[in-house]
Amino acid sequence: MGKVPVELLSKEELEKVRAANRIVAEALEYLKDFVKPGATAWDLEVAVREWLKKNYPNARPAFYGYRGFPAYLCVSVNEEVVHGIPRKERVFKEGDVVSVDFGVEYYGYYGDSAKTFPVGKVSKEVQRLLEGTQRALEEAVKQLYEGNELEAVSKTIYKTLKKYRLFPICKYGGHGIGRKLHMEPFVANCPGVSPKMKLRAGMVLAVEPMAGLKTAKTKELSDGWTVITWNRTPAAHFEHTVAVTEHGPEILSKLD
Ligand code: MG
Ligand code: MG
Repeated sequence: MGKVPVELLSKEELEKVRAANRIVAEALEYLKDFVKPGATAWDLEVAVREWLKKNYPNARPAFYGYRGFPAYLCVSVNEEVVHGIPRKERVFKEGDVVSVDFGVEYYGYYGDSAKTFPVGKVSKEVQRLLEGTQRALEEAVKQLYEGNELEAVSKTIYKTLKKYRLFPICKYGGHGIGRKLHMEPFVANCPGVSPKMKLRAGMVLAVEPMAGLKTAKTKELSDGWTVITWNRTPAAHFEHTVAVTEHGPEILSKLD
């Protein structure tokens, strides 16, 4: 395998990536309250547009127009795994899960994070889906230290999801981020896929485990974006942008 070119960020650049991710984290925190029975995916989109304009007029929504994507947010409900287009017709009901993925560019640097929220009370198995996927992210983040193999991150995601009897979705995954939204390396959610490399201080990675409750098999809808599980069983997705530093991993897309 050839060497994957990875750009390391300076301290000053890291500060900018931190600022972009702070906006994303604040936005997701703000949107949390909009996920409730009777609300729609489009309500979230409207809310984030107004919020961004009011609070960070200099931040650019990173997904909007990205390869033609039509919205600020990806909103993926139940069987939708990732890249869901927020729609007025998609009304949330008690027991649903809603993944909200948001990214911004702020003064040339990018932030990217996602959370899956329960709508009201969810079933026990859906609770396990959310807990397991979130735990996979938490455990994976701990692997982001200098000198560790990138593969350790992928293995940890996979193992943790398996422990929760979930189905790791291998086709999509995390990525380098910083000066661009999507950069090398690909951070796979399964072993044997990520490029072989050691983590170095100055690397910034978006780590994003995705799991199905009953299947890992996905298909893309004819809208060209929405990825769903083939049998329409629920899936979850959690993502943080994390910096590898001399002092260990630092989650940038998290509020203190
Ligand atoms: Mg994302
Ligand atoms: Mg991402």
